[in-house]
Amino acid sequence: MKLFTTFAANLCFLCVNRKHCSYFCIMNAIENIRKLFPALEQEMNGKKLVYLDNAATSQKPLPVIGLIERMNSGINANVHRAMYRLSDETTALYEGAREEVRKFINAPERENVIFTSGTTASINLVATCFCERYVNEGDVIVITADSHHSNIVPWQLACGRKGAHVRILPLKDNGEWDMDQLQDMIDRRVRLVAATQISNVLGLINPLDELILTAHRHDIPVLVDGAQGVVHMPVDVQEMDCDFYAFSGHKIYGATGTGILYGKKKWLEEMPPYMGGGDMVGTVTFERTTYAPLPLKYEAGTPDFIGASSFKPALEFVGNIREGETGKEVARSEKEITEYMRRALREIDGCILYGDAENKIPLFSFNVEGCHAGDIAQLLDKMGIAVRSGMMCAEPVMTRFGTTSMVRASFAPYNTLQEAQYLIDCLKKAVKMLR
Ligand code: PLP
Repeated sequence: MKLFTTFAANLCFLCVNRKHCSYFCIMNAIENIRKLFPALEQEMNGKKLVYLDNAATSQKPLPVIGLIERMNSGINANVHRAMYRLSDETTALYEGAREEVRKFINAPERENVIFTSGTTASINLVATCFCERYVNEGDVIVITADSHHSNIVPWQLACGRKGAHVRILPLKDNGEWDMDQLQDMIDRRVRLVAATQISNVLGLINPLDELILTAHRHDIPVLVDGAQGVVHMPVDVQEMDCDFYAFSGHKIYGATGTGILYGKKKWLEEMPPYMGGGDMVGTVTFERTTYAPLPLKYEAGTPDFIGASSFKPALEFVGNIREGETGKEVARSEKEITEYMRRALREIDGCILYGDAENKIPLFSFNVEGCHAGDIAQLLDKMGIAVRSGMMCAEPVMTRFGTTSMVRASFAPYNTLQEAQYLIDCLKKAVKMLR
């Protein structure tokens, strides 16, 4: 993290009196963050890349790239298993990353933190193991209507096996959860509520506190899909009091194919294991197997120990950009971008912005009348801008808003207001070409 500290120390060398120079302060903090991301230096189609698909996957900062390179080229031996120094070093990095995750989400103990291959794997783990243990015919799992497919299909599969049902907490027209209906959703057949902290389509920060309180009043546990949430806001799983929390490494500046499942010990201890294999066992005979204590009970087989180790530099990076002056500048920049984008999109004739409500992260899904989302994205690509288009793995959200696809521009702290302005200029050009 030395590199970052050096940049951060140079924050706003352009002025002494911050009161009169918020523009340069923001510029400087964001530029310093950008320097950590070599991928942002590339050109696409002859134009400087403007990367606005961060909700799908984020770019990687140098400390993450460096660690992965160092491990691949030297600190590489299987974890937990061997009595030699290289394996100890790899294990220390892997377990060190677990401790970093524990601190980052304020989990009580390392036993609460399971490494998985991503949010999808984490939710599948809970859906399979929780339903196996606690769900019976006629029971119900409640999910929120803004869910990604990975918070829908695992529950359908698990409920299908048990003769149980999935019930949906609907959305209002502005994309917020319809909390008036929550009470009616919850009855004695509900076994778990699986809720999205921030939807990858709507970008709204959902009222989790209220949902968790209501569910817990009925002794119903809550799983939170934090794939987008953990990237944009501090997460304290003890304060939130969720029972499970799932997120992915690659969206929070870490390696692809890595993820986290936080779980309260009660559930993790009572549920059966997910996969069987090496590392998750106590003793094995042909007749009977006992399981390893947490967290290894849920980590069968050789994990992606290099990818998982990158959680440490990735989360240290996030911690740094949320702290002190840099944190303030990042927050100001994101606010400025969000206000600008909402205003600018509204001003485009025929533009519909989905999830146009307060408490919004800098994520904008939209359509423009008379233009296909895919065509807009292709034209923007020609101008160097990477945005997402299509269903965004959330077909029911598309259906709710009467469309089959949307364009999505999702910003990270390394994106600038100038990039937002360039996006809007290019969007206007694209719309003119398509109409
Ligand atoms: N949940 C949400 C809200 C997401 O945005 C995503 C990915 O876009 C996922 C779950 C699935 O994440 P992954 O593909 O990393 O498992």
